[in-house]
Amino acid sequence: MLSTFTPRLWITFYLHVCCFTSTGIAQNAKEVILLDSKAQQTELEWISSPPSGWEEISGLDENYTPIRTYQVCQVMEPNQNNWLRTNWIEKGDAQRIFVELKFTLRDCNSLPGVVGTCKETFNLYYQETESEVGRNIRESQFVKIDTIAADESFTQGDLGERKMKLNTEVRIIGPLSRRGFYLAFQDVGACIALVSVKVYYKKCWSIIENLATFPDTVTGSEFSSLVEVEGMCVSDAEEEADNSPKMHCSAEGEWLVPIGKCICKAGFQQKGDACEPCGRGFYKSSSQDLQCSRCPAHSFNDKEGSWRCDCEDGYYRAPSDTPSTACTRPPSAPQNLVYNINQTTVTLEWNPPADTGGRNDVTYRVVCRRCSWDPEECVQCGSNVAYSPQQSGLVDTYVTITDLLAHANYTFEVEAVNGVSDLSRTQRLFAAVSIATGQAAPSQVSEVIKERVQQRSVQLSWQEPEQPNGVITEYEIKYYEKDQKDRIYSTVKSKSTSATVNNLKPSTAYVFQIRAFTAAGYGTYGPRLEVTTKEEATATIPVSSEQNPVIIIAVVAVAGTIILVFMVFGFIIGRRHCGYSKADQEGDEELYFQFKFPGTKTYIDPETYEDPNRAVHQFAKELDASCIKIERVIGAGEFGEVCSGRLKLPGKRDVSVAIKTLKVGYTEKQRRDFLCEASIMGQFDHPNVVHLEGVVTRGKPVMIVIEYMENGSLDAFLRKHDGQFTVIQLVGMLRGIAAGMRYLSDMGYVHRDLAARNILVNSNLVCKVSDFGLSRVIDDDPEAVYTTTGGKIPVRWTAPEAIQYRKFTSSSDVWSYGIVMWEVMSYGERPYWDMSNQDVIKAIEEGYRLPAPMDCPPGLHQLMLDCWQKDRSDRPKFDQIVGILDKMIRNPSTLKTPVGTCTRPISPLLDQNTPDFTTFRSVGDWLEAIKMERYKDNFTAAGYSSLESVARMTIEDVMSLGITLVGHQKKIMSSIQTMRAQMLHLHGTGVQV
Ligand code: AMP
Repeated sequence: MLSTFTPRLWITFYLHVCCFTSTGIAQNAKEVILLDSKAQQTELEWISSPPSGWEEISGLDENYTPIRTYQVCQVMEPNQNNWLRTNWIEKGDAQRIFVELKFTLRDCNSLPGVVGTCKETFNLYYQETESEVGRNIRESQFVKIDTIAADESFTQGDLGERKMKLNTEVRIIGPLSRRGFYLAFQDVGACIALVSVKVYYKKCWSIIENLATFPDTVTGSEFSSLVEVEGMCVSDAEEEADNSPKMHCSAEGEWLVPIGKCICKAGFQQKGDACEPCGRGFYKSSSQDLQCSRCPAHSFNDKEGSWRCDCEDGYYRAPSDTPSTACTRPPSAPQNLVYNINQTTVTLEWNPPADTGGRNDVTYRVVCRRCSWDPEECVQCGSNVAYSPQQSGLVDTYVTITDLLAHANYTFEVEAVNGVSDLSRTQRLFAAVSIATGQAAPSQVSEVIKERVQQRSVQLSWQEPEQPNGVITEYEIKYYEKDQKDRIYSTVKSKSTSATVNNLKPSTAYVFQIRAFTAAGYGTYGPRLEVTTKEEATATIPVSSEQNPVIIIAVVAVAGTIILVFMVFGFIIGRRHCGYSKADQEGDEELYFQFKFPGTKTYIDPETYEDPNRAVHQFAKELDASCIKIERVIGAGEFGEVCSGRLKLPGKRDVSVAIKTLKVGYTEKQRRDFLCEASIMGQFDHPNVVHLEGVVTRGKPVMIVIEYMENGSLDAFLRKHDGQFTVIQLVGMLRGIAAGMRYLSDMGYVHRDLAARNILVNSNLVCKVSDFGLSRVIDDDPEAVYTTTGGKIPVRWTAPEAIQYRKFTSSSDVWSYGIVMWEVMSYGERPYWDMSNQDVIKAIEEGYRLPAPMDCPPGLHQLMLDCWQKDRSDRPKFDQIVGILDKMIRNPSTLKTPVGTCTRPISPLLDQNTPDFTTFRSVGDWLEAIKMERYKDNFTAAGYSSLESVARMTIEDVMSLGITLVGHQKKIMSSIQTMRAQMLHLHGTGVQV
């Protein structure tokens, strides 16, 4: 009976079955559910058409949870067409939708009397729309998905009961293109209970794989499609180079095929799916490293997530060091630096530093400084100095330095350096030595010019070698016939930078080479100069092949004399005077000098020119002011400031210069007097006379540009370096001054104010005569005083005849030269100390002369005494003085003076000026008197409080006070010896030493 077969009974029956048979399907995490009828407990309110068809019924599921189902069972009537449409389902981002149906379906066989009309399937449809449409179902708008049939309607239970099986069918629809859709179930006459309808789509859910996050990803529209997804590195991770992370989302919502990966950044390491920072005291320098590491030696960090550790104070990392290398520091100074000097070559050797700073890349570098006799004024050695094997980057512990200047003070610093030395801000550690180079032979004479080529003679001139390394006393010219090679050669000597070689064969090729000679010996020969003598002309007077050079000199001398006599006469007639009269320069002596050196140029008094401007331009080069760069003021001259600066002439190296300026607002006379000095200086060309570079008269300020003399005036220089030079060095200076004066006297120039203050010294200790202003003696020299004869005269330097009757000659310059000798040997002591000018004049008149300065070789004092001969004709000539000094330089043994042997001779003059030790009240008084007061504290500290205790001192005692300068030791010792003698003599006080 069909009427007893009520839907409610049917459901109860179903539920009973389902409690035992349903296996259920666990909720798949990959699914996104769009509709689940079971989850809804209120009425579903789907549309059923006709309303008598599908019926919504409440029930309980296997867990006794209420559920909503739809049933239809119109099996008894034919032509059934019952539709059930779900509510509108919004598809979201789904492309493929899964529809899972759970239903029971009655077996037609189990229903008696329904044969023919009963069906065992139903149809599933869907309709896509952009939004909800009305409640009417239009069949034609639905697309059929499938006909759904039950697997099994009933099964026979073990006990013979009929069990209803719950069917589960899943169908897939898509790709969907509208915003949503409806599902519809068409029953055509079956007995169906639609227990649940679930609509879902699949997603690959966000995951972290290989430190990359992959977002939720909807599966592709096709069953076979994989969706490629780029991963995003988790925080503090980065993509591995060229290997960005990717995964593929399958249609089943599963992540497949991971490619590439992320890795933790520097400073972080992986922990699970994240990157955690390195802890304090740890670092990770690169993302490539897996783990954080402990900070290497001498480094630290105090914050998390560090990619490297910082070096401790005083430790560094070289640019090439990796973060994993220990921090290191600069090495300590090299040890046991020793040197060896051979003339101008210095070899330095040392031991490696005690501490290499923790590195094995230690090398050495050498800093060379030349100290120009003043410790504060050291300059870096220039590029002329050569280092072997090199100056820096030295791997071995030695270096040889060549091409140093002779007689110069150098400081060498040897520094050990490693890869972090340049990073260190701490003080450089180095080993240093101060070295004074010895003498060296002069460098090559390289520029030789053939001035005049005759049949039998060749006249050559040349430049002084670039590095004379001392005073050049002569040049040797070697020559030979080219065909002979230099198997047979001859030599000729010359004291100046030109020579004429005679007795040559006509039409013959000769080779000439020149070398310079100084106290240090000969330099090497310069390059060969080939000269072919002229053909023998038939018209000239034949000269015998045994031609005697003496005859030639005589001929030249006679000719020269005639010319000179004319010149001298010319000057006497045409002379004008500026400042003071030069009349005294005339006379026998001047003529004698001119006669003696017939080839020498003669000095022309610029005052003999009508137009003094013409004189300036005749003797001085006009310079373009733009070539001169003034750098600093170095002194005050009579007419304006004296500056130092640079002169750069076109095509020439720039040179250091002194620039004398004429102050603004000058009178015409001042301008003339100022330029007078240039007119005089411009006539001179000698290595021991200050060289004029030129003048600027066509611009303002008016300037005189002179070679720069680094060490300034000689008197101040000597006082500054009291006791610091060897006798040979002092004699070398004197020789230079004498050579300059010989040249000036040869030219007929009388200086009148020769004094150490008017000698300038350059950085090579070369002394040059300067101060040539015509009015200088009157206006410029503070030493000049008015004498009874009316003129202003520097009394202490001036010969008696010049003081008395203004007889200024080269012989009076020789007297002044003797005073300069005394100044030099006493390191700038004031001649006649603090005697008054009148007393000096009187003492000299009475025959007293200055005693030998301390430690002055007797030969030198004798030369001074010779210069101070009362009768000027008894005084030596400058030429002789140069000769005597040269001899001394060549035989240094003649200059040796044992300590204390050269004490001052007892003379009335000396008595006036030698301190009387018995009058001193204290050791301090005594030290002041001998100008050694700087050592007062040394004496006090060592307990020498009385003169008696001082008188007992030995040289060792003096040295033990910390007096290191040999000159000062000698000065003090010598005074102590005199003190001892006086005590013994005058008071009978015996002093036992
Ligand atoms: P003067 O007017 O010649 O007495 O020069 C004044 C000062 O300038 C001198 O005492 C020197 O110290 C300095 N002086 C003059 N000429 C030079 C020079 N050529 N090189 C260096 N310093 C110089």
